Amino acid sequence: VYDFTGRVAFVTGVSSGIGLATARAFATSGAAVALADLDRPALHDAARQLADEGHQVLALPCDVTDEQQVAAAVDRTVAIFGRLDMAYNNAGIQIPPADAADEDAEIFDRVHAVNLRGIWASMKHELRHMRAQGSGAIVNCSSLGGLVGIPGRGSYHSSKHGVIGLTGSAALEYAPRGIRINAICPGTIDTPMGQDMIAKGELDRAEAEANQPINRLGTADETAQAVLWLCSPGASFVVGVALPVDGGYVAR
Ligand code: NAD
Repeated sequence: VYDFTGRVAFVTGVSSGIGLATARAFATSGAAVALADLDRPALHDAARQLADEGHQVLALPCDVTDEQQVAAAVDRTVAIFGRLDMAYNNAGIQIPPADAADEDAEIFDRVHAVNLRGIWASMKHELRHMRAQGSGAIVNCSSLGGLVGIPGRGSYHSSKHGVIGLTGSAALEYAPRGIRINAICPGTIDTPMGQDMIAKGELDRAEAEANQPINRLGTADETAQAVLWLCSPGASFVVGVALPVDGGYVAR
């Protein structure tokens, strides 16, 4: 649907799920795609798969909790591909549900280090290149957890609410400079993260399906399509939104 020929995309958390589907969708639309992930073997498998499909990709081992690694990955993308047009900051983790009176500080810090500071660092270093270029589109991954609360999920939801705050403020700062920044808020998507929660009994599949008025889980490909649209010329007047991609969950 989209033609991103000659464009360069940077995606984090690409070894699995939504990140991998989005990297593939960018590549299928003609973009050169830099792939950043901390799981080296899975990253190299993903890069090989995409290269075998004929796509132009670059594998960048990177832990988004380490700002220096993020800066190096973004800089390398520009050094190899020559520019940076689109970024999808997707890397994130889930944590076990916990009573708000019982959760350990280490778990709170860990989920914020990946889900919030990781996005802060990624966006910061992407913007350094896009600002010099005077153009670009960034999509940050929040969640329906960035829009509502769910009992036992305070720390994860706090990290995802934070992503919307970062996105809105940076969007206002950079809209006048030709860079659009938005967020997506996926509902329950059928990826290894969601499957793991179901396997551990932390999420009931039937209940999750019923909570989404469309009556099923979303797919990684459907989520990727929302990211591509936000990066496309079709979304040229869309700035600072937190777009639910949730089968109607938050509209209930
Ligand atoms: P996933 O677990 O399948 O994939 C996450 C990817 O992020 C993996 O490749 C993992 O190696 C990578 N990653 C984790 N920590 C990292 C780090 N510190 N540095 C670099 N890479 C790291 O998960 P998914 O379901 O595809 O989720 C992707 C994003 O979507 C996450 O931010 C998640 O919070 C969000 N999300 C998912 C759902 C869902 O239902 N699956 C719903 C809402 C939001």
